[in-house]
Formats: sequence, C-alpha cells, structure tokens
Amino acid sequence: MQRWISSLLALQDDAELPAQVALQKQIGEIHARVDIPISLVLRGARCLKERLFSHFSQAFSDGELAAAIGFASDSIDIAMELMSHAYTLAHDRNSRAEEAYRLFSVSQNIGTERERQRAALLDWENQLMFEIAAGSPAHQLPRAQKSEFGLWFRHKAQDSFQGAPEMQQIDQHLAQIDELYLPAFTQGSARALEQLREIREAAKAVHYLLEHLFERASDIENGRDTLTQMLNRKFLPVVLGKQVANARKSASSFALLMIDVDHFKQVNDQYGHEAGDLVLQQVASILGNSTRGGDYAFRYGGEEFLLLLVDTNAANAQMLAERIRQRVADERLLLPAGVTLQVSVSIGVTLHDGHPDYQRSLRAADSALYQAKHGGRNRCVFVAS
Ligand code: GH3
Ligand code: MG
Ligand code: MG
Repeated sequence: MQRWISSLLALQDDAELPAQVALQKQIGEIHARVDIPISLVLRGARCLKERLFSHFSQAFSDGELAAAIGFASDSIDIAMELMSHAYTLAHDRNSRAEEAYRLFSVSQNIGTERERQRAALLDWENQLMFEIAAGSPAHQLPRAQKSEFGLWFRHKAQDSFQGAPEMQQIDQHLAQIDELYLPAFTQGSARALEQLREIREAAKAVHYLLEHLFERASDIENGRDTLTQMLNRKFLPVVLGKQVANARKSASSFALLMIDVDHFKQVNDQYGHEAGDLVLQQVASILGNSTRGGDYAFRYGGEEFLLLLVDTNAANAQMLAERIRQRVADERLLLPAGVTLQVSVSIGVTLHDGHPDYQRSLRAADSALYQAKHGGRNRCVFVAS
C-alpha cells in the first residue's frame, strides 16, 4: 500500500504515465481474481485520503495545502477509476466462464440428453393425438408440463440451462398449451381442428427452441479439447478460483504439474502432423489414467498440459510427477503402419501455498518447467509457490 501510494504521487512526467495506468489496471485484475469487492477497495482509498490529508496539514504551508490535497485526491481518484474499470472487465470475463463451466458440468452427456428429450416431446404429442382421436374429454388430455419432457424441463433443464433465453420461451409455450389450449379443447366442435393446429404450432416452437438450447450447450461442451478430450484452458481461471477457495476452507493444498512434451517439433517434422496428434492423444491418455477422479487435466497449449492435483502435498505431488514422467518415457506410442515411438516429458511441479492469487502458483509451475527443460529435459523439478 505504501509503495503504491508513493509511486502514484511521485509521478513526475508524462512518460511515466502509461506504466502507472498499466499498474492500476493490473491491480484491478488481481482484485477480481482474488475476489476483493470493489466497495472495500474504495473504502480503503477513502481512509487513506483522510490520513494522508491530516499529514499534509502538518507538512505543507497554508499556501501549498490546497494544491497538495487537490493533486493527491485527483491522483487517487483516477487510480480508483482505472482499477474499477479493469476489475469490472475481469469480473465479467470470469462470470461468463463460470457460467459456461456450470452448464458444461451439469450437462455432461449433451448428445444423449438431446435425443432423449426430443423423443420424450414426440411421445407426449403422440399420446395427445391418440387421446384426441379416441375422443377423450379435455380434462383427460395429457398435459405437456406433466409429461416426461415437462418434468425434465421443469427440473433438470432449469438447473443446467438457467438463464438461457430459450428457457423462458419454452416455459411460456408449455403453459399456454396446458392452461389455455387443452382445457378449451372441445371434441368434435367446429373449432377443434383450429385448436389442434394451435397446439401443433406451440409444440413445433418448443422443438425448435429445444434444438437451439442444445446447440448452445454443445458449443460449450466443445470447450473440451477435441483432440485430447482434456478440459479447455478457458476453464482454468474458474477451476483454479474454486480450488483456491476450497483450499482456504479445508486447510488442504493442491498441486500444479506443468507438463511439456520434449522435442515435440521433431516428432512432427519426422513423422508428420497426424502422427504428432496421435502422440498427443496417447500422452494425454497416460496423464488422464495417472490422476484421480477429483483431479483436473487441462490442455494448456499445443504440446503442453496442466494437471491440478487436489488435496495433496509436495512429496506426493512430486512422486506422482515422477511416476508420470517414467510412464511416458516407458510407453511405446503407436503410430500408423505399426511404427512405435518413445517420447519424454519435462514436468514443473509446485504446491499452492494458500495465497489468494493463483497466478503465483501458475508462475511457479512455469518456472519449474523452464528449469526442467534447461536441466536437460525428461525430468521433474519442484519450485515452491
Ligand atoms: P521442447 O523440448 O523445448 O519443448 O521442444 P519442442 O520441440 O517440444 O517445443 P516447441 O515449442 O519448439 O515446439 C512445439 C511444437 O508443437 C510446435 C508445434 O507445431 C507443435 N504442435 C502444437 N500443437 C500441436 C498439435 O495440436 N498437433 C501437432 N501435431 N503438433 C502440435
Ligand atoms: Mg515441447
Ligand atoms: Mg511447449
């Protein structure tokens, strides 16, 4: 705080301005990452001003005081504006990713669910048509909201697709069918055909909206990396944020393993890009098989992976890293035409130290990986966060 205020008020010429602006933005982003509410930061700034100005009244002469207070007050206000702006942007970004992740995690089997609900909606329509053909009275016609589809929609879908615009529209159509069209349906009347048409139109709209809903969800499901089926890197901030919070609550720690395939460019150069892809898939599958159900595996970059091991300690994390390194090195990877190939990985390991900013742990894992590469590759290095 002291450093922040002195550097802010010591600003001498315009050339230093861009760096100061960048610094305030960076602080705002950190606040968003570690979840410090903006109101708290503003209150801090107000307290700081109060104290600062009472010092000023002793340090400056009467003639200088007003100018000094004006300058310090403006500087702090501008810094707060920059910080809040960066905070809001970062916060929105996080919420969007969080939303996507929630949706994704609830609806794991989007393909199957889509087919099932499409069929369930058709089932209800068929049943309705049958009852109408059989001359059943209005009160016996099957209600859409009570059908298997309706139940799924009102319960499971409400959780998985919460906030999607299609949800409200489907809800309205179903209510219209159940509360307006079906109770008014009069068998054999002149209006019956017209009424049937209205029901069909509403059901068609539900089909259409349902497709949209699933379309949206599978875009998000594609957040899984298609080559390796690992989690896409864009979910990393959400997962890390949650793990930092968990670790604080449960006094446990998580470890990060940053894993990079050694000399991978040579694999591509020698065997072709497709063979390279096969290598990545097989390495990813070794990584997946080496972790527990609660751990997370991300594709971090082209031939770089990140494992997040929950509830662990430095010794266990290092042991697992070493086991993974060994397994990859021992495995004969299969390429087309019966060719086999062996590759190695370098692994940077760190243990989260409880600091609210997970970026520090990522940097530690990165620097550990760098050391592993420079130490000769095919090895694990631990760096404390
Ligand atoms: P180092 O040991 O220092 O990590 O060397 P390297 O050759 O593995 O590292 P470098 O970063 O020079 O090269 C990585 C290569 O990975 C370059 C890029 O073409 C390749 N790559 C990235 N993504 C993919 C992918 O999805 N499929 C394939 N086949 N290759 C990829
Ligand atoms: Mg590499
Ligand atoms: Mg790399």
